[in-house]
Amino acid sequence: MTTPFPTATVTGYPRIGARREQKRALEAYWAGRIDADDFTRSVHTLRVETYHRLAELGLREDYAIPASYSHYDHVLDTALTVGLIPTDTGGTNTGAAAGLDAYFALARGTSQRSPLEMTKWFDTNYHYLVPELADSTVFTARPHHLLSLVAEARAAGHLVRPVLVGPVTLLALAKPAPGATTLPLDRLDELTLVYRDILTGLSDAGVDWVQFDEPALVADIPGTTDARLAEAARRTYATLSSATVRPQLFVTAPYGSLENGLPALAESGIDALGVDLSAATRGADPDYAPRLAATLPPSVHLVAGAIDGRNVWADDLAASLDVLTGLGRESLSVSTSTSLLHVPYTVSQETTLPVDVAFWLSFAEEKVTEVEALATALAEGAEARPEAFNRAERVRRTRASSTRVHNAEVAARTAAEATNDGFRADAATRIAAQESLGIPDLPTTTIGSFPQTAEVRRARADHRAGRVDDAAYEQAMRAEIDRVIDLQEELGLDILVHGEPERNDMVQYFAEHLDGFTTTEHGWVQSYGSRCTRPPILFGDVSRPDPITVGWTRYAASRTPHPVKGMLTGPVTILAWSFVRDDVDLRVSADQIGLALADEVADLEAAGIGIIQVDEPALRELLPLRSRARAEYLDWSVRAFRLVSAHVSPQTQIHTHLCYSEFGEIIEAIDALDADVTSIEAARSRMEVLDDIAGFGFGRGIGPGIYDIHSPRVPTVEELRELIEAALKHVPAHRLWINPDCGLKTRDYPEVRASLANLVAARQAMLDSVQVTV
Ligand code: GLN
Ligand code: ZN
Repeated sequence: MTTPFPTATVTGYPRIGARREQKRALEAYWAGRIDADDFTRSVHTLRVETYHRLAELGLREDYAIPASYSHYDHVLDTALTVGLIPTDTGGTNTGAAAGLDAYFALARGTSQRSPLEMTKWFDTNYHYLVPELADSTVFTARPHHLLSLVAEARAAGHLVRPVLVGPVTLLALAKPAPGATTLPLDRLDELTLVYRDILTGLSDAGVDWVQFDEPALVADIPGTTDARLAEAARRTYATLSSATVRPQLFVTAPYGSLENGLPALAESGIDALGVDLSAATRGADPDYAPRLAATLPPSVHLVAGAIDGRNVWADDLAASLDVLTGLGRESLSVSTSTSLLHVPYTVSQETTLPVDVAFWLSFAEEKVTEVEALATALAEGAEARPEAFNRAERVRRTRASSTRVHNAEVAARTAAEATNDGFRADAATRIAAQESLGIPDLPTTTIGSFPQTAEVRRARADHRAGRVDDAAYEQAMRAEIDRVIDLQEELGLDILVHGEPERNDMVQYFAEHLDGFTTTEHGWVQSYGSRCTRPPILFGDVSRPDPITVGWTRYAASRTPHPVKGMLTGPVTILAWSFVRDDVDLRVSADQIGLALADEVADLEAAGIGIIQVDEPALRELLPLRSRARAEYLDWSVRAFRLVSAHVSPQTQIHTHLCYSEFGEIIEAIDALDADVTSIEAARSRMEVLDDIAGFGFGRGIGPGIYDIHSPRVPTVEELRELIEAALKHVPAHRLWINPDCGLKTRDYPEVRASLANLVAARQAMLDSVQVTV
């Protein structure tokens, strides 16, 4: 007797709590304010209440609810479950402090060990911990964590579906431990046997469905190919499904469409396949639905992820229903395209959204009801859920005709610039014109933000809440700007900044000041561990009603004879860290934001600001998962960046800042940004990145960060001097900028003062010691 797959499900759910209860519990536990028992009790309550809520919202069938909870990260959890990381954290759900502490040590490090490396989970803003696989590691099944989740849910009246990262993806994302000679993927067969033991354990506990997530099968992973990964999946799942005693296997492929992986999984013997059939993925790969219909045998139950798990728009249910019926399958369930981890809990908590925009949105809870409505309609026709389908139709109509969304002036302007490549005067003209800025050799500067003190944060919060008026707020910010300017003058920096005290976040701040965006009060999503962000929502054509940064920058410039650099966040980064429109191409929004920022640049220039930095730390983050799509992406994203400064005079110096040093496949794109000066992360890699840059013949100003702002450590003059010396081997002194590797907002003033003093001293020592021109 086997349980059929539920007709409606989701493949994962947010775990931070609708009011960030998990974040508070984690931070209280880490700070020692609560003990392991208290922590365990509070996350137990959170899980059980989530199960009750999901059932209430419509996930009432057995195994409809995924047990997707994690204390910190689901990749870490799976790695521990199979012994890929050989630490015994047994019983992390049962309140055993030793297990919990071992777990958090891996995630966050301790004074003795550094944490696991963290990196982006596919093309989302979630970050996972990268498991390291040593040659000596012996995989072992440790299913107690899964079993305790199952038992806990059962006691609360729910049959939940355990979720693991699948073996292929787990190894594809793991890295060899230092000194290891075997590549993780080469140990797949060995690992598969351990997954089989886990299946046995779950089966013994009476579990009838288990979910393995295999997003690696929709991405191009460095060091392997789509065909090789597909072959690996075929082998692994053939082994797993041939086990005689096991739960039924539900394998998902979120974040895009399967290519070679589709026939491989289809023929492997798995029981159900979850696919990303969101409108976004259908748009990117129009052949996906027909391919699924043609390839998947009736023996594999299809779980169609029609509801978009990673964006916030209400679904066009009628269109989805058409796609699903078009698949022509008897055996079909409805789900989300990805885990709902990437969206906030519920629109109903929001009180300040424009009402029409609020009506168009669907967060996690609303998406569960969409899944349920679609599943019901699939069985009984759309008439069975008239409210849901009528609502979806009203959303579609009102969005399509809303003047809040569609702005003819913006459309006309964007169209007029459609063929502008955004390039300014040639480099030689600019270099000659910028002589007038009087920039010395090895110029010193910072990346923009200065420490955000408690007073600065309080002033912003008070202003927002109406506790202080505009005049008092302005005065508080000006006082902070004065302090930042005084400090920079005292330290002897060459190019100053105003310090960005008015910015809560480099993207949210601009979203709050641009038409076409809205922001939420409670729309938190997990970035990693207890760290959450509140992405703005881009719903319409973008324009800039009023200057944004000009007042603050002009004020700062009025306080000093030194040049003050204007600071903007670039169009690609604004897009990457927001929920974006699904009714126009991303590149249209990128152009619109680029042009809105061009207005700001023009005003800064008119206010006498001769140096303007346009930050693009997220340029690489939107890179498509499939490599063949990357060139086209880089083409339009880099052009949108250039549009920001397309019309400035050759005298105005444009800087950009990127937060990473692995340039590899995007070095040409960075060159094509055509910024006069580019600052990058380089301290941790000891300037090695400059080899690539010099090799490429990058001929403009470059500021390889010479100290790591992510660490509280104050770098010594000597080590800074060595780094400058190393950089000078690749870049001549008139093109080499001296700066930290990122903004200083997370640091405190004593550290920043000491570090920058050493930076200036190291540069001076360098100037004094040799004839610096290479
Ligand atoms: N100008 C921003 C700052 O200094 C840049 C931040 C970033 O690169 N993430 O804070
Ligand atoms: Zn940065």
